[in-house]
Amino acid sequence: MSAIRTAIVTGAARGIGAAIATRLAADGRQVAVLDLDPDALAGTVEEITRLGGRALGVAADVSDAASVAAAVARVGAELGPPTILVNNAGILRDNLLFKMQDADWDAVINVHLRGAFLMARAVQTHQVEARWGRIVNMSSTSALGNRGQANYAAAKAGLQGFTKTLAIELGPFGVTANAIAPGFIATDMLRETAARMGVTYDELRESAAAEIPVRRTGTPADIASATSYFTSDEASFVSGQVLYVAGGPQD
Ligand code: NAD
Repeated sequence: MSAIRTAIVTGAARGIGAAIATRLAADGRQVAVLDLDPDALAGTVEEITRLGGRALGVAADVSDAASVAAAVARVGAELGPPTILVNNAGILRDNLLFKMQDADWDAVINVHLRGAFLMARAVQTHQVEARWGRIVNMSSTSALGNRGQANYAAAKAGLQGFTKTLAIELGPFGVTANAIAPGFIATDMLRETAARMGVTYDELRESAAAEIPVRRTGTPADIASATSYFTSDEASFVSGQVLYVAGGPQD
């Protein structure tokens, strides 16, 4: 029987983050469901509670240092020291380079990269003190390059280097850090992509599935199960890895 641990999952109001939060609760973790909008995150908290788990909704902006400090302090006080961190919050501001605005670049880098940095820096204090911790950063197959996503690809590739550095620095304290790089996962985020490309969501999903070796698009549960493994007690010798969860090999 492993100890009851507290996890923070960012961007957990919906999509992949909601599935991860629910899965970690099913794994016996207490889960802080962190997202921008307090009303939106209530659904995930209710679902975890309905299934018999313990969850705390925390409204915070991961790109804001004061918001992150307050959120992590609140989780520590109300659930217990957070020793599991899943940096999942994300946004898209896609455009071809020549049309990309400064604000599109800054917003994406701030949420994905600065957000992961601020959260990890705040949580590592608790992990180092506990001499145990798990960090999972959500990268993407777009880290390998994707048309219209210079900002997002840079952030997602940056997260891979960030992950490996955390693994090196925090490993001596019993803390592992890994990244998951999802391929096409059917969530609301990709509705924005379909709209930008001028196709319906179903058309986008069907054309993507045809190109994926397992002939389907991914589900939030596919990413939640990989996160469950990386955050398990058993995964203590797996660190600094990038796991592509994309239905086939990536270049
Ligand atoms: P989503 O848009 O459905 O959910 C993202 C969540 O993050 C939202 O609830 C949003 O409110 C929250 N968020 C955004 N900015 C925030 C901030 N500053 N502070 C706190 N919360 C914030 O997206 P999703 O598809 O579930 O994606 C989750 C993660 O997985 C993202 O990092 C995304 O880049 C990554 N990813 C998704 C796919 C995919 O195919 N859907 C593929 C690869 C990687």
